Amino acid sequence: MKKIAILGSTGSIGTQTLEIVRYNRDIQVTALAAGSNIGLLEEQIREFAPKVACVWDEARAAELRVKVADLEVKVVSGMDGLIQAATEPEAEIVVTAVVGMIGIRPTIAAMEAGKDIALANKETLVTAGHIIMPLAKKKNVKILPVDSEHSAIFQSLQGAAGNPVAKILLTASGGPFRGRTRAELADVKVEDALKHPNWSMGHKITIDSSTMVNKGLEVMEARWLFGVEMDQVQVVIQPQSVIHSMVEFADGAVIAQLGTPDMKLPIQYALYYPERRYLPGERLNFWELSEITFEKPDFENFRGLSLAFEAGTTGGSLPTVFNAANELAVSLFLDRRIGYLTITDMIESAMRHHKTVQNPDVDQILAAERETYEYIKAKWALN
Ligand code: NDP
Ligand code: MG
Repeated sequence: MKKIAILGSTGSIGTQTLEIVRYNRDIQVTALAAGSNIGLLEEQIREFAPKVACVWDEARAAELRVKVADLEVKVVSGMDGLIQAATEPEAEIVVTAVVGMIGIRPTIAAMEAGKDIALANKETLVTAGHIIMPLAKKKNVKILPVDSEHSAIFQSLQGAAGNPVAKILLTASGGPFRGRTRAELADVKVEDALKHPNWSMGHKITIDSSTMVNKGLEVMEARWLFGVEMDQVQVVIQPQSVIHSMVEFADGAVIAQLGTPDMKLPIQYALYYPERRYLPGERLNFWELSEITFEKPDFENFRGLSLAFEAGTTGGSLPTVFNAANELAVSLFLDRRIGYLTITDMIESAMRHHKTVQNPDVDQILAAERETYEYIKAKWALN
C-alpha cells in the first residue's frame, strides 16, 4: 500500500485525488486537511479512515471531534495541525491542494520530514521557489507536479536526462475572454468569469484563468520546477486545451503531452510516478478533433500576464506581492465589491509600491503578503 496525506481534501483537486484513491484501492490515506467544510471532511474520514484530520478553524475542529467521537482519528487545527497532517509519519507523499500561501509552511515541513510532494498549490513555488527547490535537493525528495501544464512538461522530459531544456512552451486556453479588449472586459460579471471553456476547477483559479493571472503564476512555477530562466518560458495560446504543454530541446525537437482536459491524469501520474496506470474516462478522438490552433498571448489587454513576467523576472519578494494582491482582488471580485479590471489594477499598484527584498525567507515572504493586503485595503478604503 502506498500511503499519502492530502492537504485541501475537500477542494477540487482534493476530491479528485480521493476519486483516484477510491478507484485504485492500493493507496492508504493517513491524513486529511480542510479549511472549514467539516460536513464533507467527516464523510471523507468515514470512507478513508485517516489517522489525522485537520480543520483550520479550531471551533469547527471541536464540532468535528464530537461528530467523529466513535472513530480513532485525531482531529487537529490551525497551522500546527496542518503541519501535523503534512508530517504524519507514515505518509510517503503529501498532496498539497490547499489554496493560497497557507501551503508554504506545511510543504516545507513535509519535505523536512523526507516526504515527496505532489504539488498542486501554485503559491508555494511562486513565492518560495528559491527555498523549496534547494530544500528538495538537500532532502532528496521529489516535487511531482500536479498542475496539468507542469505535469505535461514533466512527462515530456522523461528520458531526456542530461539534455538541457532550450524552451518551455506553456500552453493556455486563453480563457473565456480571449480576443476581448480592455474596454470589453470592463463589465465582466462574476458569473461570466466563472465559466471556463474547457476545465472545471475551484472558483479562485477559474477567475485567475480568465484574467491570465493563472498562466502568469504557472510561468513562475515552471521556472523553478524545471530550473530555467523566465525568458525561456513562452506562453502559447492553444484554445482547444488538447496540448497540455511542450518542451523544446537544443536540436529544435519539441516534445508535447496531449490529452483530454481531466485533472485526474496529472494527479494519478504524480501519485504513481513513474508508473502509468489505467485511468477511466474519455480519450482524444483525432477524427472528431478537427483542428489544433495556436495564437500569441495578448499581453496588452491581459495585463496580469505581463505583470507576472515582470514579477518573475525581478524575483525576490515581488512574486509574493503579485500573488497576494491577486488573491485579495479575486476574493473582492467574487464578493462583487470590485469590478473585473480592478483585479489587475490592484496587482499593478501593489507591485509599484513594493520595495523588493531579494532572497526573502519564509517570514519575509509572509510579511510581504501582509503588507500587500494592508496597502490595498488602505488605498481602496476597504475594511
Ligand atoms: P479549491 O478552492 O477547490 O479547494 C481548496 C482546498 O483548500 C479546500 O479543501 C479547502 O477547504 C482547503 N483550504 C482552504 N483554506 C484552508 C486552510 N486555511 N487550511 C487548510 N485547508 C484549507 O481549490 P482547488 O482545488 O481548485 O485548488 C487548490 C490548489 O491547486 C490551488 O493552489 C490551485 O491554484 C491549484 N491548482 C488547481 C487546479 C484545479 O484544476 N482545480 C489545477 C492546478 C492547480 P474547505 O473546502 O474546507 O474550504
Ligand atoms: Mg494549470
